[in-house]
Amino acid sequence: QAKTAGGNTLRFFNMDMQTSVLERASLEEDLHQALAHNELALHYQVQVDHQGVTTGVEALLRWYHPQRGWVPPGTFIPIAEENGLIIPIGYWVLRLACEQLAKWSRQPTYSALTISVNVSSVQFQQPDFVREVEELLAQTQAPANRLVLEVTESLLMSEPTRVRNTMLKLRAQGVRFALDDFGTGYSSLSYLKRLPLDELKIDQSFVRELLTDKTDAAIVDTTILLAVSLGLTVVAEGVEKKEQLDWLKGHGCYRYQGYLFGRPTPIEYLFEVY
Ligand code: C2E
Ligand code: MG
Ligand code: MG
Ligand code: MG
Repeated sequence: QAKTAGGNTLRFFNMDMQTSVLERASLEEDLHQALAHNELALHYQVQVDHQGVTTGVEALLRWYHPQRGWVPPGTFIPIAEENGLIIPIGYWVLRLACEQLAKWSRQPTYSALTISVNVSSVQFQQPDFVREVEELLAQTQAPANRLVLEVTESLLMSEPTRVRNTMLKLRAQGVRFALDDFGTGYSSLSYLKRLPLDELKIDQSFVRELLTDKTDAAIVDTTILLAVSLGLTVVAEGVEKKEQLDWLKGHGCYRYQGYLFGRPTPIEYLFEVY
């Protein structure tokens, strides 16, 4: 673990399930400074279509802690959601993504790319959320129809009518919506029909053993059929192997994200050819 590594070695901090209360408290304290101290970064992971063409990227937040090294989002985002810091942090992520979209929109090579941004339920349910997104789009001149907001099933459960109204307002501006980690939550299928979704992302936990686990294969197959019949784009997450890609393609899934195509990367290296 991180604390045993000495000197200037690159350390990777991972708390797993066994986070002590003290460690969590100290991380929480440090997180308050993270934005102001420039410790947060936004990396991007490509999404490709069945011809291998990059269609867009997902923005993924990174925290480089001065003592602990990289802290994974799975560790610090739940803390930020609990103490409300996810609101300024999420706003910062959205602003960066919109600025990037605006830059790309002025370059013919990149102008068709989308950027997907994860939006926490806490952030989404802020009364100001619609206004903030609208302002960001206006200020940055980012094309709204290239911005995809990724929400999770837990959001849809909380206050379906309010959530739907928020989505409809943003959709009216052109913003698109993806349902992230599909199959890991408890959402009712009827929500899928009622909400203005454009995209459904199959969680990587189902893709991982797609080739060996019959249940996972059945879940993925059914999800693809469901998405297609609802007119949604279906994106497979966590594609690492050519064989997984072939299976997915053979079963009607034509959008992919995963290490096979690229890891989350700082923007300056994203399209670099090695
Ligand atoms: P997610 O939105 O489902 O993002 C996909 C996660 O899968 C990312 O983990 C990505 O690095 C990882 N991944 C991509 N391809 C592969 C692969 O081929 N194999 C494996 N094993 N993993 C792959 P990451 O970056 O650690 O993020 C974890 C979660 O943290 C995200 O899951 C998302 O829920 C949350 N998150 C990340 N950035 C943000 C953010 O800006 N705001 C909010 N609210 N949540 C964020
Ligand atoms: Mg996501
Ligand atoms: Mg996901
Ligand atoms: Mg997620």
